[in-house]
Amino acid sequence: MPNLKKGIYVVLTGAPGCGKGTQARLLKERLGIPHLSTGEMLRAEGHTGSELGLKIKALIDKGNLVPDEMIIDMLKNRIEKDDCQNGFILDGFPRTLPQAEALDELLKEKNITLDAVIEIQVPDEIIMERILGRYACMKCGQGYHDKYQKPKVYGVCDTCGGTEFYRRIDDNRTTVQNRLVNYRALTYPTIPYFEKEGLLKCVDGTGSIEAVANKIDSVLGV
Ligand SMILES: [Zn+2]
Repeated sequence: MPNLKKGIYVVLTGAPGCGKGTQARLLKERLGIPHLSTGEMLRAEGHTGSELGLKIKALIDKGNLVPDEMIIDMLKNRIEKDDCQNGFILDGFPRTLPQAEALDELLKEKNITLDAVIEIQVPDEIIMERILGRYACMKCGQGYHDKYQKPKVYGVCDTCGGTEFYRRIDDNRTTVQNRLVNYRALTYPTIPYFEKEGLLKCVDGTGSIEAVANKIDSVLGV
């Protein structure tokens, strides 16, 4: 039987602040397939009132980690939905080697073959600059950046005219450094794992959002 290609199945990975969330949202628009962000899915599942959702919510509310089996169960429910039949973009998962192996098992069970695992590569110092420079309007939440996205008029929000801004408390050097160290220790080992499976595609994530999007399209051949 010919191997009929059903859709495009992609994992976007990379260090925190590499831009994978932004790229996943744009890719979703271009390909018309869902963007599965595990962070958003966990929050959404917590609100469904399902048995799994209630367990997840209890864990998150107490500040505990959600065990891999629960994330996998949630993912399994999600990819069975109709809108995932032509593919999906996975963002924020797998975060560890055991999660990568569990994902492989799940996809095998569902007869799904990944097309690519795209690693968006950005040097640590650029990630630091991106995160430490960001701030937002207090009134409308519009995001800005000290260097890359200044308001048109100094100190005035483009969107709502607000004049008060804030920075997220965890956008500080120590927290970002810790996140990068965690990424290297826990998530980075998934990179050689996917490379061995022949799925890894690396994309330089230092250019403009549009330039990075073009590079993603070209590695996917779309
Ligand atoms: Zn505003």
